[in-house]
Amino acid sequence: MEKDQSKIIREQAPRSATREHSVPLYLTSSFIFDSAEQGRAIFAEEEEGMVYSRYANPNTTEFINKVCIMENAEAGLAFASGMAAVFASFAGFIRNGDHIVSSRAIFGSTHQLFTQLFPRWGVTHTYVDAVDSEAWEKAIQPNTKIVFLESPSNPGLELADLAFLGELKAKYPHIIFAIDNCFATPYLQKPLDYGFDLSIHSATKYMDGQGRVLGGVIVGMQELIDQLMFFIRHTGPAMSPFNAWVLSKSIDTLGLRMDRHCSNALALAETLEKHSEIVDVKYPFLPSHPQYELAVKQMKAGGGIVTFEVAGGKERAYRFLDSLKMILYTSNLGDARSIATHPGSTTHSKLSEEERLGLGIKPGSIRLSVGIEDKDDIIGDILQALEATK
Ligand SMILES: *Cc1c(COP(=O)(O)O)cnc(C)c1O
Repeated sequence: MEKDQSKIIREQAPRSATREHSVPLYLTSSFIFDSAEQGRAIFAEEEEGMVYSRYANPNTTEFINKVCIMENAEAGLAFASGMAAVFASFAGFIRNGDHIVSSRAIFGSTHQLFTQLFPRWGVTHTYVDAVDSEAWEKAIQPNTKIVFLESPSNPGLELADLAFLGELKAKYPHIIFAIDNCFATPYLQKPLDYGFDLSIHSATKYMDGQGRVLGGVIVGMQELIDQLMFFIRHTGPAMSPFNAWVLSKSIDTLGLRMDRHCSNALALAETLEKHSEIVDVKYPFLPSHPQYELAVKQMKAGGGIVTFEVAGGKERAYRFLDSLKMILYTSNLGDARSIATHPGSTTHSKLSEEERLGLGIKPGSIRLSVGIEDKDDIIGDILQALEATK
């Protein structure tokens, strides 16, 4: 279990005069000042205090504090969605002429930022293969401002060596090293411990864990979070207090849920590896994964995603998805309920066939977000769908 589990559960917005046990929902856009002098002092940042929910709100602050405890971070900020957080982690720092180095296998919308939006503002990027440690340093230019990555990647589940990248950060202290840590969660992987500056999450996924609300969070060094605070105060991507309230409750059970996601996913991966109708299975904690040793070193467990290729290509993959009985087909992930996706025709459909193959996405690839149902029910549904489509 998480060593800070008690601290996480006990972290709570200050109790009000009503003496509530569970934290209330602070649906208020602004906060009053007791006096004109207090209003002046809070605006002048001489006195601490809430002003307006675009800046901070008791519910969002509580949620952020919990993520900071989990990830050993100095400070953090909450956002309306994962993409608002990813965008801010760049937009809050870059200027015309800057360059970004990024792992190639990244979330689709992040790829659109690099290739469609940032060129408008004179910001360039270089992609590297995350597994090729030497490629990272080669890609760094004098104008490189940010090194960005995802590990494990989606849906190929390739890993970047976090200790190696932490050393690279020490060699290039002026470059911001940021990771989208959404797939691993703060429970399984703590990149700041390796020297990363910022860890970014789509809270929509495992942090919520029940497919209800959107959210994003960035945690990291105080100095960078302060710079980002300026950006969010004046651009307005803040998380709603309602979503923060939901997410803060969810964080209490993140570790428990992840243990179950991971044990179910490992059991599924082991079963599929032996199955004659499966061409290939990717799961970081399978000894057959090319980076198994690295996975065991930098992750507490293998995560909740298993990617596998069914024999028979796209046509079989479609029939397989249509034959699942319990598991639903939707493009979300990280839910208590198992979810199946065909990346080639959905999340990664905008890429060329060649780009997809480069990311390990075959026509028969299925991404399974393994839920926390009974493992025999999950495995049973997949086995019956394989059998039905032989
Ligand atoms: C879902 C996701 C995002 C985007 O998050 P939203 O909350 O959907 O905006 C970013 N990165 C990764 C790795 C994701 O899985």
